[in-house]
Amino acid sequence: MKITDLQIVEGDFPLKQPFVTSKRRIDVIRDYAVKLTTDGGLCGFGACAPTPVITGDTVGSILYAIEEFYKPLLIGAELSEELLPAVQKTLFHNSSPKAAIDIALHDLLAAEKGLTLFEYLGGKAGAKHLETDATVSLGTPEEMAAEAKKHISAGFTAIKVKLGGPKEEDVKRLKALSPVFGETVSVRLDANQAWSVSDAVYVCSAAADMGMNIELVEQPVLYTDLEGMAAVTRAVPFPVLADESVFSAEEAERLIKMGGCSMVNIKLMKCGGIYGAKRIHKVASENGIPCMLGCMMEGPVSVTAAAHFAAAFGIDCLDLDPPYLCKPYKIEASVEYDGKNIDIHTGGKGLGITKIL
Ligand SMILES: [Mg+2]
Repeated sequence: MKITDLQIVEGDFPLKQPFVTSKRRIDVIRDYAVKLTTDGGLCGFGACAPTPVITGDTVGSILYAIEEFYKPLLIGAELSEELLPAVQKTLFHNSSPKAAIDIALHDLLAAEKGLTLFEYLGGKAGAKHLETDATVSLGTPEEMAAEAKKHISAGFTAIKVKLGGPKEEDVKRLKALSPVFGETVSVRLDANQAWSVSDAVYVCSAAADMGMNIELVEQPVLYTDLEGMAAVTRAVPFPVLADESVFSAEEAERLIKMGGCSMVNIKLMKCGGIYGAKRIHKVASENGIPCMLGCMMEGPVSVTAAAHFAAAFGIDCLDLDPPYLCKPYKIEASVEYDGKNIDIHTGGKGLGITKIL
């Protein structure tokens, strides 16, 4: 089966309210879906979203990479697993457009075998039920407490809290959130690189005294500060989750070996798609390090691919909340999103996407 066409479909997904972290604020997710057509009657879908402050990928660089590098690689090519490493080698960095193309190829490869994507990745047949957390954006203590209440009322039992300094402000935010969370909600703190080591110790020590059930603290310090990650991992009473410090299996291995994290956040947009995600998951598993499966603020095609990946590899720590944070997603697929619940049906082929607009 040969690939005969590649189309890019732009989609805008407005958020119910602005998404704010220490790095950025957005109101709309701008997403680029890729549709690969074959001469065998199958279509494969992938997608990516630009996150310039994390991946460095912009709208312009994504479109250029796909048009100028991936179209020539793929159009006329025979569909085979050998295309997957070729996609990674065609360009340095550019992890988001790589992810879009990699997901579309995985969608086709699974469909060609008559399997759902999670089955193709080694997951057992049968419907899958997953649960995601919901994110509370960075804001005033009052705003954050109100948002957390809303998420909990919607049934969420795990909440990610965006923090961002100064450290005294972060402690005030947590003081406002603590009574909302009580002792039962699983709380995931994410500083998005905003702290120093001493800030991280200060905020985490204060948080530990508040009686919340804090599950982890994510990317406390600058992504390049691996010694700082190790220092925080040694000093704080919660598992430290590496996010921006880990884009590749090699980075995961290095950080894990130096004691720089207790968990790794795999995101398809960081590692160039499923091919890279499998490599990171393998390194983490070999070292006894659990993974979170997260995402950027992305449209439904790549979040659906992430859900299939989590189902295939039994990852139950999920941060896949764009479907909940957005006004309804325009997609018909094998996956249904309802609050914290993500349900993957059986019987679909690949991602099971029948319509993206
Ligand atoms: Mg993060």
